[in-house]
Amino acid sequence: MPSITSRKTEQSRRLQERAARMIPGGVNSPVRAFGSVGAEPLFIVRGKGSHVWDADENEYIDYIGSWGPLILGHAEPGVLDAILGAACNGTSFGASTPSEADLAELVLSAFPHMQKVRFVSSGTEATMSAIRLARAYTKRKFIVKFEGCYHGHADCLLVKAGSGVATLGIPGSAGVPEEFTQFTLALPFNNLGAVEHAFHKFKHEIACVIVEPVVGNMGCVPAADDYLVGLRLITERERSVLIFDEVMTGFRVAYGGAQELYNILPDLTTMGKIIGGGLPVGAYGGSSEIMDLVAPLGPMYQAGTLSGNPLAMAAGCATLKQLRDRKSEIYPRLDKLSGELVHGVAAAAQEAGIRLCHNRVGSMFTWFFTPGPVRDWDSASKSNTDMFGRFFRAMLDHGVYLPPSQYEAAFLGATHTAEDVQKTITAAKEAFAALRA
Ligand SMILES: *Cc1c(COP(=O)(O)O)cnc(C)c1O
Repeated sequence: MPSITSRKTEQSRRLQERAARMIPGGVNSPVRAFGSVGAEPLFIVRGKGSHVWDADENEYIDYIGSWGPLILGHAEPGVLDAILGAACNGTSFGASTPSEADLAELVLSAFPHMQKVRFVSSGTEATMSAIRLARAYTKRKFIVKFEGCYHGHADCLLVKAGSGVATLGIPGSAGVPEEFTQFTLALPFNNLGAVEHAFHKFKHEIACVIVEPVVGNMGCVPAADDYLVGLRLITERERSVLIFDEVMTGFRVAYGGAQELYNILPDLTTMGKIIGGGLPVGAYGGSSEIMDLVAPLGPMYQAGTLSGNPLAMAAGCATLKQLRDRKSEIYPRLDKLSGELVHGVAAAAQEAGIRLCHNRVGSMFTWFFTPGPVRDWDSASKSNTDMFGRFFRAMLDHGVYLPPSQYEAAFLGATHTAEDVQKTITAAKEAFAALRA
């Protein structure tokens, strides 16, 4: 459905028509098709700092940052240098290279509970492997995940909650046999009672609990006070593995991720996004006791042709070193600027009489088009997604590129300026006025 816009869109439209003839929906990841916001997808041709340009030469302030990885902004010179330097020596060997231990050292020193880490090529692989490892370690079959949390697209994780509390998950995608999700318990987020109930019902059968310690994938939804502590206590008592999926939150909500921010240590951590500095990487890690079950030391198999790829390791190292060296400057500034942005837009909505609520943890945030509060999938799904779609399109026309879904967190990065934020608030004022009209 073409939207009415003053922006030039001919080139993006032409590129989309071409791509759609060969690639399902024209995209290699569904949300890029802009399906839930009633707009035509953008084709991005370049980025610099906090801004991106599309194929029609429209410029946008970018609050996606490649869905999280680009906390240092687009085309960051140090990261580019590292990638170019590595590429000149060859792009892949399928053998060990020194940079793998460099990145491991950076990750392990930021996440003290981890003694060992294994690099893979995506967040999906990281969580899939961590769950396999938790099952290998506990010799149990069931896993607990929470509604609205996303951990990549492994079969056993593509589930919807059935009816009632602590029911077995039912497949959330075509192509996933019921048998593949029969050991997945899908529970409401921020509800410790449901977790207690599941452990009662499946005593000694639950291998792990996997959770986004700050949810980003139903929009930004923080854990309630004591929720993560509660999960830690229950899993410890039940000898079940607690997995923090920090693919989004690692090096984002604090240098040491949500586990540093809230001072709660899981048994396994999964990562991705920022640790690859914009190249494909994932990782999972934990104590040596658990990690030594991974092949070739132990019986749990996991491998990858391009795992530990030297370009990805170089980009990751360059990103993490900058974050480490500038963390006392970067994270407080991200928090302050994000606060100004989120409150500025919320105030503009209130002035225009538009009911929304917002959640934010550091530089991860969402404006939900519902009075709220949003604390789980039930409350998030009450959002007016039509209204969000109109807001999204109006913002795009004003040069602001938000995630094209009500249920995806937006991000601010180290290269966003106070001017970007002011322009975005001004754009929101105009967008809300148009929404009301
Ligand atoms: C993005 C994300 C994933 C999946 O990572 P991919 O690299 O897209 O496979 C898993 N978990 C969380 C929390 C994520 O945000």
